[in-house]
Amino acid sequence: MQTVKEFVAANKDALISDIARLVAINSVRTAPQDGAPYGEGVHKVELEALKIAEELGFEETRDCEGYIGYAHVGPKDKFLGIIGHSDIVPVTEGWFQSPFELLEKDGYLVGRGVLDDKGPLLAGMYAVKYLIENNIPLRYGIRVLVGCDEETGMSDVEYYLKNYQEPVFAFTPDADFPLCHGEKGIYGANLVSAPVDGKIVYLHGGIASNVVPDKCVVKLKDVCPKCLAKAAEGNDRYEITEEDGLVVVTSSGIAAHAGMPFDSVNANGLIADLLLKADVLEGEEKKIMEFISKVTETVYGRFMHIDGEDGVFAPTTLICGMVRKQDDGSFLVNVNSRYNTSIAPDELEKRVAATAEEWGLKVKDFENSGPFYLDPEKPAVKMMCDIYNEVTGDNEKPFVISGGTYARHMNNTISYGPDRPNAKQPAWVGGCHMTNEGISIKHLMEAFEIYTEALVKLQEIEF
Ligand SMILES: [Zn+2]
Repeated sequence: MQTVKEFVAANKDALISDIARLVAINSVRTAPQDGAPYGEGVHKVELEALKIAEELGFEETRDCEGYIGYAHVGPKDKFLGIIGHSDIVPVTEGWFQSPFELLEKDGYLVGRGVLDDKGPLLAGMYAVKYLIENNIPLRYGIRVLVGCDEETGMSDVEYYLKNYQEPVFAFTPDADFPLCHGEKGIYGANLVSAPVDGKIVYLHGGIASNVVPDKCVVKLKDVCPKCLAKAAEGNDRYEITEEDGLVVVTSSGIAAHAGMPFDSVNANGLIADLLLKADVLEGEEKKIMEFISKVTETVYGRFMHIDGEDGVFAPTTLICGMVRKQDDGSFLVNVNSRYNTSIAPDELEKRVAATAEEWGLKVKDFENSGPFYLDPEKPAVKMMCDIYNEVTGDNEKPFVISGGTYARHMNNTISYGPDRPNAKQPAWVGGCHMTNEGISIKHLMEAFEIYTEALVKLQEIEF
């Protein structure tokens, strides 16, 4: 029987040329079509990935109505899963060549999706080939899921779980090595007031729910510019100008991702604080600014009574990513929380809604996805981390994150490579979603080896 190392070396060129086949298809989400809910390109790349699976010897492939595809081998009562994705984010400017043409440069593969996630998806698929070719008896079947909507909402995996059988254990090769066994809960909501007549004619802060904003602009009528200038005196985070008879205040904060907001300065909070300090507002408008000011006073959601620590994850956080004065005169305040296991998902929902209500705002739309946590001492988790360390010579430990991968949507699922945030690489190599997105060929081959070893050893574990 071939060793895993021999197999990986023998399949290197084939893997790379199959990655080129997927990279060549522009699979950015577009308008839905019949049987292609995420557009033609995404469906095309999914079918191409399933075709590759057939060539590799999988017993069955299935296009699940364009939402997701799978390739299966072995028993179906209990099976393991590998879930990657074939959709990509839009391309950026400044590539060496077309992002849809695979480039090999100085030991790296470059192209949109080589790292996120076409390359790792195929490395997982090729790992299964080892078990097929070497007739390794399968106690559990293996199903590779070809996701189609990872980048724009993960409705693909929701569709799959509603209509198809779930693996007993799965990993997603769409994050960092060695292994992530927990993700914080994610809650996001728009809190909206009734229409308010007042002095604020325009309010616009932040560009996304999941980013602490570094800029907020407010335009006011019938206020004295001097009062504002006096309140802002000595603080270089404010700029005050006049435009068409309105006073315009712009604040500059420090941006940060909602998952890591600890060193941020919220530009929305700065505006609210200044308007309160200058005491230029009254009634409902003043109350809404007080609300924004209190929400942004900490990044821990203290004002909403959701703060807490659980000794596993980082503290629960809550940021105010966006504020708007809307066309109908109402105010919109968007909040985004990354929470740990110290609070139940429905309790968090309740407390945010109750606090908002006290201040005259209602939860308009929200999303809430609870935290997941797998015990790092679980045999599969421990074994897979060990394999990473054996293959690479590293000595890393499993970790938890604040972001979200497919893993949070499924039971018994971890994320497992392929990226290595601490690895040194040339400055021109782009990360996920970036220009000249690249992956080290050496690291890709190690991931391939790690996935293969893991699939062999997972067959020995009781699920
Ligand atoms: Zn991804």
